[in-house]
This record gives sequence, C-alpha cells and structure tokens, in this order.
Amino acid sequence: MKLKQYAMAMSMLSLLPFSTLAHNMPEKSFLGTIQLKNYRKEMQKLRHMDLDVAGVDLKEKKVDLILTPEQRDSLRKLGYEIQINQTKNLKRGPDEEYKSPSEIETILKNWNSKYPEITKLEVIGKSSEGRNIYALKISDNAKLNEPSEPSILFNSMHHAREVMSPEVSLDIIEQLVTGYGQNKTYTQYVNNNEIYVVPMLNVDGNAKVWTGSSMWRKNTNYGHGVDINRNYPYKWGKCRGSSGFKWSDTYRGPKAGSEPETKALMNLVKRIRPVFDISYHAYSELVIYPMGCNGERASNREIVESIGHKLGELVDYAPGTAWELLYSVDGSDIDWMAEEYQVIPYVLEVNSRAEGFQPNYQEWREKTVVRNRPAWQHLLTRLDGSGVRGQINGLSQETLTVEKIVGEKSSTIQRYKTNNEGRFHLVLKPGLYNLKYQVSGKNMEKKVEVFDKRINISL
Ligand SMILES: [Zn+2]
Repeated sequence: MKLKQYAMAMSMLSLLPFSTLAHNMPEKSFLGTIQLKNYRKEMQKLRHMDLDVAGVDLKEKKVDLILTPEQRDSLRKLGYEIQINQTKNLKRGPDEEYKSPSEIETILKNWNSKYPEITKLEVIGKSSEGRNIYALKISDNAKLNEPSEPSILFNSMHHAREVMSPEVSLDIIEQLVTGYGQNKTYTQYVNNNEIYVVPMLNVDGNAKVWTGSSMWRKNTNYGHGVDINRNYPYKWGKCRGSSGFKWSDTYRGPKAGSEPETKALMNLVKRIRPVFDISYHAYSELVIYPMGCNGERASNREIVESIGHKLGELVDYAPGTAWELLYSVDGSDIDWMAEEYQVIPYVLEVNSRAEGFQPNYQEWREKTVVRNRPAWQHLLTRLDGSGVRGQINGLSQETLTVEKIVGEKSSTIQRYKTNNEGRFHLVLKPGLYNLKYQVSGKNMEKKVEVFDKRINISL
C-alpha cells in the first residue's frame, strides 16, 4: 500500500468504534507485533483506534498489541504485517512465584511484625470486591507522624497483568527493613524520611489474573472494569488519552476519580504529601514524567525532567513524557499528583519487550529489582539534595509562589500548595530564589540562596 492510501485508511479507521469488536471475546486474544515507520504519528493512531498496546521497543520501533482476530484483520487491511508471537502463550499465566493479593498481605504483615519499630501497616482503602489495599510506612518511629520528615511514595500495580511491578516495591521494602542498622545509607533513608510503599493497588484485577485472565489490565468494578490509571481527576478524558467505551482496556470510568483504588491512592497522597513518587508498571524500559497530553509539559519542567533524565541514565531506560514515548495519556496518577500537590512523580516501565508482562520469575525477578535500585535510591538521596524545606506560620492561603532570580530579573517557576500547617518541601537547583506568600492577608517575601544541600527555614 502506498503511504498516502495508508494514511487515509488509518484516519478512516480511527473513526470506527474499534473496541466493539475488541473485547467481547478476550479468550481468543493473542499477542501480535507490528513494525512502525513514523513512530510518533502511528502510535497516536493506534491509541485512537483503542487498541490494547502491551509495550514497545523504542529503538526498533516495534509495538506489541493484544489483538482479537478482528483487530488483526483490520490491521492487515491497513498494510501492517503482524508477527504473531507463538512463544508467549497468553493462556499460560504468570509463574506462581509472582504474588497474589493475599500473598502481598501476608508478606507485609510479616515485615510489620518482624520490624515493628520502623514499619507501620496501613489499610488505605478497599477495592470494589472488598479486598484491603495496603501501604507499608517505613520510618524511624513509624507509628508517629513526624511532619518535619519528608514523605516519598512508591506504588505498584495500577495494571493487573504487570506482575513484575509489585516485586520492585517488595524489594524496596526488603532492602530498607533488613538494611536498617546494617547499611549506613539505608539507615539514614529510614531515619530521615517517611517512606510509603503500596506494592499492589489493583488487588481485584490481580486476583482475576490468577483465575485464568492472565492479560487482565483494569480493576473489576461493574464487571467490565476501569483502567484506574485513566481515572484520576486531572484532565480526565480530555485529550483522547483514554477510552469512553467500557470494554476498552483504557476505559476511564464513569466519573473522574470514581474508582476505590484511585480514591485510596489520592487520599494517601493528600495526607502524606510526598515529595517524589514512582509508580511501577511493565513493560518497555521507560521513565515517564508528566504531563500526558500531547505537547504539555510539567509546570516545573526544569526539575521534573532533569531528575527524570537522571533516573533514565541510572537504570538505562529511555526518559520522556507519555506523548513523546508512547501516546497521549489522560487521567493518570502522575499528572494528577504533579498538578494537585506538586509531587515530582515518575512512571517506571520495567522490563523489555523480550520479557513481556510475565517474564520467567527465576530468570528475571532478581535482575529486574537489582537494576531498578539506583532509581529509588537516587530519589531518597535527592530528598536531602538542593532545595528548601520548612514551615510558614500563620499562612493565609496555602499558596507559595517560587521565583527564580537571575541577575536583575525574577520569574515565577512554581506555585506550590503547602499543607494546611504551612509546610512545604521545594526541590530546587542551586541558585537564588524569592519565596512569596501571605500571612494575615499581608504579602510577604523571603529571599533564599540554595546550595547543594537542602536547607530548613521557618517563616
Ligand atoms: Zn501499566
């Protein structure tokens, strides 16, 4: 097919309700791979066609898709050659060493009873099927709330089939609790910060993965389920980065923030106000930072993107926004966290196309968690790097405007929402800044010089 005909066919097809064909016979689905030429453009088209993209290989411009026979035929009509992967039998299911919701529960309870001083187990919500969603807090004096210590969040498994993602969270926990008092760096991480780990957010979806639906992605609410990582309220359904069709694998849900899992994570973020977050997913070896809609950037791009690139370097994953690396995404957790609470959040897509969603456990578990350690360690170290932490007494509004001063000029680089006690933690590059805020209705400002280490101020 000539290029132009191909482009026309693509644009016509994007208007069809593709998903009506797609999701009624999941038992016949299979994994197919296509080769792209114009990666960015074609990826956006695949998104608009509501296809279930399993993962990508950026270098080779290859895309894995979970396809029904109808979708395969339609793609063939568009001129795509589909390589069907016989070795990855979707029916096989994950190796049994991967964790179920009840195994996660047992593991967390065990760590908590073994290390009661430095851990606290919290139920942060219940799924629609009534399962507990857990967070393990790791800190010295874990049972106390120590607001002077910054929080950091690691969460896994928004998507049920991505069974390697909880392993990374479990490894973070194991490293920190068993290293406490043994390893100097880990001991400092635990002493100086409040670390929250949510190893399995989508507990119902995962239970379904273990009962024959190994490629299940969403939660199980309403029978058809919702993609909880398209359900967060920021720009929900705004840029064709999700689906309004309930059988689609990227269905955004009936309302913004409608899902119990979404609410659980939102309430946790609102309460703990993490400085950084990593949301672990699989697969494609990417570091994704906000924002998700085509062409949009994080409001404090300078910080968000430079740290994202550093993480990419440390684990050898490709960094970028979702729309640069994959396609537009709306209603995601990282966009909501960044905009609502100025969290500096990342998605790490662990494993490559060769491993897929459910790689051989014995072969890949250790390699994957070890490879990912430098990234979460870097963020824990960065909490003590250049920036300003503190509290504003008697704050009138929870808004702190941060201006960067260069020579005679100053420009606003961030509007930060403090918590209701006026606490803030700004991650900044070394330099001169002006902090503007209001106390009892009066405009105040404070000039601060930031060096390599984080400073504490009280205003
Ligand atoms: Zn995912």
